Amino acid sequence: MKKRNIVLANWKMNPETLGKAKEVFNSTRLAAKTLKNTDVIVCPPFPFVFPLSKLNVPKNLFLGTQNVFYEIKGAFTGEVSAGMIKDLKIKFSVVGHSERRAMGETNEIVRKKMAAAFDAGLSPILCIGEKERNKEGSHLSFIKNQIKECLFGLQKKHLVGINIAYEPIWAIGKSYKEAMSPTDIHETVLFIKKVITELFGKDIADGSRVLYGGSVEAINAGPMMEYGNIDGFLVGHASLTPSFAEILKAADLRK
Ligand code: PEP
Repeated sequence: MKKRNIVLANWKMNPETLGKAKEVFNSTRLAAKTLKNTDVIVCPPFPFVFPLSKLNVPKNLFLGTQNVFYEIKGAFTGEVSAGMIKDLKIKFSVVGHSERRAMGETNEIVRKKMAAAFDAGLSPILCIGEKERNKEGSHLSFIKNQIKECLFGLQKKHLVGINIAYEPIWAIGKSYKEAMSPTDIHETVLFIKKVITELFGKDIADGSRVLYGGSVEAINAGPMMEYGNIDGFLVGHASLTPSFAEILKAADLRK
């Protein structure tokens, strides 16, 4: 079955006000409307999710959250459960972003969050990616281990159509000059699919999507989409700028 492209906008802790969030969301809404082959998922900070969910959007524009907690309810100050997100009719949650892992989130915590998200009926987007690369290729065993530990024990039915965002940490939050080359992205995506095949079978690997994240900008989005063997992007800083419309157009070229 043909897979639609996905471009996820990770706004991180931006913009500063709801008014500005509505402006950015409106530009994204207008750009999303023109796309044929691409779904757009906007992940704003939590306080903006509900007000933005009340606005009219085209069929290919969705809201998501940047995080989700693994417990259902209770004394977990500051956390938000998967059920609460689902209750707002939000479908997507980013899980295991490197900026959360840097605050102490382990593969085991990420696995519990994935399980909780699936159990509540959400579609989590699992973030993986190495801190550094070396000639010995240690990043490959690092990535393999992340996939294994973050998806361990999850129900196979939940893994059908799973979305993985491959984000090499060394390329996040820089400029297009420091992003990964399309050839290296291509190779890594093949590796990720091989690992998924080994762990869960070819059907799950074939049905999965791999997004690339790490300094995607308007200038490098086209070549990455054409040669990177990816199903879309996870975009950070550029998703808050007018150039995001160009990134969406570049993604949409893949039919
Ligand atoms: C991200 O937020 O995961 C990300 C890839 O950010 P940026 O596009 O700014 O590198």
